Amino acid sequence: MIRAVIFDFGGTLAKTSTPWDTVSNRIAERLEYEDIKIDPVDLEEAINETIEYRYQHHQLGLELDSYQFFNHALGKMEYNVPVDITDELEQMVYEEGYVSFAENLEEVLMNLSEEYMLALLSNAWLEAPRQLLRDHGYGRWFKALICSYDIGIPKPDPRIFRHTVDLLGVHPQEAVMVGDSLEADIKGALGAGLQAVLIDDGFSDWGGPKIMELSELPDLLHSMDV
Ligand SMILES: [Mg+2]
Repeated sequence: MIRAVIFDFGGTLAKTSTPWDTVSNRIAERLEYEDIKIDPVDLEEAINETIEYRYQHHQLGLELDSYQFFNHALGKMEYNVPVDITDELEQMVYEEGYVSFAENLEEVLMNLSEEYMLALLSNAWLEAPRQLLRDHGYGRWFKALICSYDIGIPKPDPRIFRHTVDLLGVHPQEAVMVGDSLEADIKGALGAGLQAVLIDDGFSDWGGPKIMELSELPDLLHSMDV
């Protein structure tokens, strides 16, 4: 019996993007007050390298938090980020980012929450996925909002899936992971004993349950729950 539905964020509940040039300008301006003088163009490059560095960490089953993220970027320019302004820098990333939520999201979440416990499980080094859901009024549908930086372990590591089902108080096989990444969401979930639904663009060769739109999810879950 399916008791919980766990959602990925980016590419699943919403599409997001970050204009790192604008963010880098704002961060460089802010850092001047800390006597840190850096060229925003260098900072943007350092951030891009840090995004790459973070993906390499994922291969090792490790996630960064925002302090580690900014510190690695500034470290490239031989500065340390003052720990007390990390939240402020993170807020700049949040404010400049773009988000577009999946169609009919409110209706889908409302429907599903009548039958299942809902949770978020996002690979994130910052608060943004949780903050976006809360700020747009979707947070109330979720029993748990989990970001990988909370425990320092990203998907597809089975430990973060087990952490999530433990929080929800369900067995792994009673939970379905819904996501757009075959590697992180689907293989990760299956490896931890959960069920999985792929949000598919129509091009993957995944033979398991898949949907193209979130609005197809309630019917699909009923067909899986036999
Ligand atoms: Mg995703």
